[in-house]
Amino acid sequence: MNPGGIDAGRVPVPEISPESTAARGMTSPDSSTGSIVPPIHLSSTFARDERYDARNPYTYARDGGPTAREAEDILRTLEHAEATLLFTSGMSALAAVLEALPMGAHVVIPDRMYHGGLAWSRRLARLGRIRADCFHPGERGSFLDVLRSGETRLLWIETPANPECWITDIEAASRAAKMAGALLLVDSTTAPPPTTRALNLGANIVFHSGTKYLNGHSDVTAGVLSFREAGGICEEIESVRKFHGTALPGFEAWLLMRGLRTLFVRFARISESALAIATALERHPLVDRVLYPGLPSHPGHGIAARQMTGGFGGMLSIVIRGNAAQARDVARRCRLFVPATSLGGTESLIEHRKSIEGEDSPVPDGLLRLSVGLETAAELIEDLNRALSLATEA
Ligand SMILES: *Cc1c(COP(=O)(O)O)cnc(C)c1O
Repeated sequence: MNPGGIDAGRVPVPEISPESTAARGMTSPDSSTGSIVPPIHLSSTFARDERYDARNPYTYARDGGPTAREAEDILRTLEHAEATLLFTSGMSALAAVLEALPMGAHVVIPDRMYHGGLAWSRRLARLGRIRADCFHPGERGSFLDVLRSGETRLLWIETPANPECWITDIEAASRAAKMAGALLLVDSTTAPPPTTRALNLGANIVFHSGTKYLNGHSDVTAGVLSFREAGGICEEIESVRKFHGTALPGFEAWLLMRGLRTLFVRFARISESALAIATALERHPLVDRVLYPGLPSHPGHGIAARQMTGGFGGMLSIVIRGNAAQARDVARRCRLFVPATSLGGTESLIEHRKSIEGEDSPVPDGLLRLSVGLETAAELIEDLNRALSLATEA
């Protein structure tokens, strides 16, 4: 990358930091127009050149187009990856990983993680497509009990794993996966590149739902897979994406790049507010427990402090002193926190997880999951205080 477009001669060119790479939002100004905002390519097909050769790498949009490629380049730099692939959603990216595994492959997954990932893995296991064993992310190192040396193909972890904010030690998981001959995949959606770079900590694949912090404006669904090595399973997954037609289209990729420009400032501000909210609520008489890895009282705080170097993020859960109906009532009575699913946007959201996950879910009845946005922390705290008083006095 040549920042000014000028040959720097004998003056050494310093590396551009991930933070500055994100802020620039493109790898270099558009070569044909000089536009500093990347163009949106919407073409579904690409003309061959005068020799009738394909203009590599583009032939047909289902394989991925130039705008998504630009976004992939930025994300690859942020993750220190050899290759990055963008998908139409987080779930389509995760489904492609499982699809790329051989028939009957053994995978190890957490029993508490993003509910869609768990549901899809369980479905594939019922069909005999994969064999899956679970570990509990609240028990440190428990993946060791279910990893099978020479047999397990994939160890999948999520950290922090909402809604309980379980923390898994990425370096320990990487050592265990390597010993077993398995690949380590980290769902790092709630710990984006400003705070965690899972590939540097030993992961083979890092996954993000781009729908969340990376885009950050609640107007795109996208999935990202970044790979320590470009060959192997990365190529398999790319071919699944091509046949499924799940490459991210141009407009969505453009919105994602627009969001990435402010990723670092958004994440810093959100982390700061979330810590203030968690600290205030921990002292609240109507709150039984606050689950946030940034609090010294959180069982995973020590590990989180080591592997989340740029803030503890905006996801926290509170367990109120009250039943499910009262918890739902708190969500309903908030004025700033919007009662909606998802996370990582500029607007704060609140969700009663038991109502979403169903009666079988092990989530406590009184648990409310918060996604902290960019409103002021003081107003968000006041909003929760007010809703808690109204809901519990009724
Ligand atoms: C949202 C989410 C996903 C799935 O991503 P989509 O973009 O919604 O398909 C996976 N993992 C985590 C942790 C998530 O929050």
